[in-house]
Amino acid sequence: MAKGKANSSDHCSFCGRSENEVSMLISGISGYICNMCAQQAHEIMEESLKSAAKSALDISLNTLPKPANIKEFLDQYVIGQESAKRFLSVSVYNHYKRILQKHSKDDVEIEKSNIIMVGATGTGKTLLARTIAKLLHVPFTIVDATVLTEAGYVGEDIESILTRLLQVADYDVPAAERGIVFIDEIDKIARKSDNPSITRDVSGEGVQQGLLKLLEGAVVNVPPQGGRKHPEQRMIPVDTKNILFICGGAFDGIEKKIAQRLNTRMVGYAASNKINQVDKDNLLKYITPVDLKSFGLIPEIIGRLPILTYLEPLDRAALLRILTEPKNSIIKQYEKLFEMDDVTLTFDKDTYEYIVDKAIEFKLGARGLRSIVEAIMIDAMFELPGKDKKKLNVTRIYAAEHFEKSDLRHLQVA
Ligand code: ADP
Repeated sequence: MAKGKANSSDHCSFCGRSENEVSMLISGISGYICNMCAQQAHEIMEESLKSAAKSALDISLNTLPKPANIKEFLDQYVIGQESAKRFLSVSVYNHYKRILQKHSKDDVEIEKSNIIMVGATGTGKTLLARTIAKLLHVPFTIVDATVLTEAGYVGEDIESILTRLLQVADYDVPAAERGIVFIDEIDKIARKSDNPSITRDVSGEGVQQGLLKLLEGAVVNVPPQGGRKHPEQRMIPVDTKNILFICGGAFDGIEKKIAQRLNTRMVGYAASNKINQVDKDNLLKYITPVDLKSFGLIPEIIGRLPILTYLEPLDRAALLRILTEPKNSIIKQYEKLFEMDDVTLTFDKDTYEYIVDKAIEFKLGARGLRSIVEAIMIDAMFELPGKDKKKLNVTRIYAAEHFEKSDLRHLQVA
């Protein structure tokens, strides 16, 4: 292309400005472009290249973290929960394989396997989801099922789940369409009884029916700003076929249903032995889809959540480990806080035991550990900055003194 300066009578072929109106007019074979249009063209190119790069998945099967690697990563942040970690790692790995699959002649299409995790509150469901998100190359969001209601009722439409995914994907629809959604508190949309009710169940079955559409894989019209759908709003169609859904819930009381099932199944002489072998402190490990149905999830939803896993209750030993071991454990966080003021913070071993005992005594579980440490450390955090003291060792006596004078009413589970 013959590039050169144009004459004063020439015009930009894009915006029509004359040579006098612009700083530079570059001539091509049969036209001209001014400096402003060239600049704009450059910006448009950059923008489209950027979004193309964003949409392209920057992973291949070779570089993909293997399930064992994913689990190792989870181990750094989450204590115990072996079963849930293994299922999650495999599911995420398979999710990648599915979205990387090329259409082959054999027509074998890998279908997605959504997951449901059942475990008491505060045992690490959300933590697992958040941790796995750090490692993902696909958009990920956590939504709370409690805010969802059937269309037409106060609350959020089911489609708002996908709004959140679109937002984290920067409205890049193809990227959102291979994302992962963690739906927390799925048990809150269970219907109140196992039998379908003739009265309307606003927050239960209707919502499950709505959710089913997303889990099954359908093109759903999503309001880009969330909230209620209204006619003037422009909708974005999102195909959920490849979106992986991970659901979590406490399913309070489901142990009773599991126990009932175990008892009724095992009758007679042989059963009495078997029942003794049952780990009564951790009935969740015997959970099956039947129990989810008895709890009030509709069979269609259960069918769309083929991977069922559980979280173990956290015992004293687990709480002790949670306090100190994870990469960003509570103790490590406090040490860091003090370090920023040049104060070396240390704890006696039996201080940890004291903290855990209090968490158990107040039935606060892992969530309570932070409040207890906060109550113990608040005076030091107030007084030490700016002082000459550069060391603080927290003994059990120090911890007890400070904890006892703290306002226990603040020790509510967050
Ligand atoms: P839920 O099961 O209710 O979603 P979370 O994952 O929100 O529970 O756990 C609450 C907090 O308790 C977490 O932020 C974390 O600090 C701590 N915690 C719970 N379980 C574990 C665990 N297995 N390992 C490490 N920390 C945990």
